[in-house]
Amino acid sequence: MAANGSIFGAMLQEFDGAARLLNLEPGIWKILTHPKRQVTVSCPVQMDNGEIEVFTGYRVQYNITLGPAKGGIRYHPGVTLDEVTALAAWMTWKCAVAHIPFGGGKGGVICDPARMSRRELEALTRRYIAEIIDLIGPEKDVPAPDVNTNDQVMAWVMDTYSMHVGHTSTAVVTGKPLELGGSLGRREATGRGVTIVTRESAKYLGFDIKGATVAIQGFGNVGSISARLLAALGARIVGVTDWNGGVYNERGLDVDKLAEHVARNKSVAGFGGGDPIGNDQLFALPVDVLIPAALENQITMENAPRIRAKVVVEGANGPTTPEAHRHLHERGVHVVPDILANSAGVTASYFEWVQDRYGYFWTEAEVNERLEMKMCEAYQAVLQTSLNYRVDMRTAAYVVAIGRVATVTRMRGMYA
Ligand code: NAD
Repeated sequence: MAANGSIFGAMLQEFDGAARLLNLEPGIWKILTHPKRQVTVSCPVQMDNGEIEVFTGYRVQYNITLGPAKGGIRYHPGVTLDEVTALAAWMTWKCAVAHIPFGGGKGGVICDPARMSRRELEALTRRYIAEIIDLIGPEKDVPAPDVNTNDQVMAWVMDTYSMHVGHTSTAVVTGKPLELGGSLGRREATGRGVTIVTRESAKYLGFDIKGATVAIQGFGNVGSISARLLAALGARIVGVTDWNGGVYNERGLDVDKLAEHVARNKSVAGFGGGDPIGNDQLFALPVDVLIPAALENQITMENAPRIRAKVVVEGANGPTTPEAHRHLHERGVHVVPDILANSAGVTASYFEWVQDRYGYFWTEAEVNERLEMKMCEAYQAVLQTSLNYRVDMRTAAYVVAIGRVATVTRMRGMYA
């Protein structure tokens, strides 16, 4: 986070470093550091007790030079315009690194879904979408799930939009249930992408993924699928932690049994196939690969000096503080940055949008094969840039992303 506490300020710091390397001209620099559109809406909702509440919602289209804005909708009491703008900017760079024809957007509504009924959430979703209806659409802005929103919320988004335009429009949103235009392979995509870039990193650093040791923080969607797919490649998942504790087994955890335990107990804590472990111990394990796949700001100067992994793959968004990142880079740790490592999620969203627009759906094997190609292409582009410019992989990912958006901005020219 920037010194003044602005998340957008933190984004700008990362931007500036890469823009300097690219010798970005001042005009393009100005364009790429300003959000294209920021919309604030008030959403009145009749609550179950009969009273009317008014919720504040935002939708930011940070940059739509490469295509429609793409980015999730977040429901949280702490949502701010600053945060939504920063997240929309990061989506711009993530889509550009992934090399998909999308710009970056993000939405958020200040609310506490844990204290709302299903009916209230549906009413809020429909009113929020009605308020931003002119902004969104398959060719304009394509939302997706984010914190506290899921496939049911996306189904309501799709239905509300479809009712307004007068026909069924599945491509207006991604992350939908399969039955209404969702894509096979979407649920597993982010973990699959994490697995692919981990395997490619091992290849680059010259160690075999088969038999490599892995520690993972978080055993939700991203963590558990990464664990299962890496184990399928022959890696040994030796440590896993979650919100409630963790487990360690030097010989490797049985990932399927661990998943069954979590399905029953809501946590990896208490799993019989290993010894208890905490986050601090997990980060200090003598492993080849460390995958933070839980929350932001987990790798800090408190624990970074104890990290012994050769590779850190950022499954989560923003898991490493800038100081800790610098420290790891100086020690020669290969950090695969979030905007590359977890970009398979948005790439699969792109595949969902393509299939919806086509009206023709791919098999899971086709989705996975195309995901493999896109992730390898993205990894190679960032790796080659990091070698050419002699910079860390995070800076390289920004150089690739900003370079692509800047090139198209120059080609399109100024409309005035
Ligand atoms: P999730 O809610 O399914 O899982 C989060 C996991 O983190 C859970 O196992 C939870 O117990 C664990 N956790 C929470 N607090 C913890 C703590 N203090 N210590 C250790 N573990 C803790 O979420 P997810 O979808 O797997 O997302 C994880 C991260 O990946 C987030 O940063 C998210 O933004 C990012 N991400 C997810 C996707 C996706 O497609 N799901 C795509 C891109 C990025």
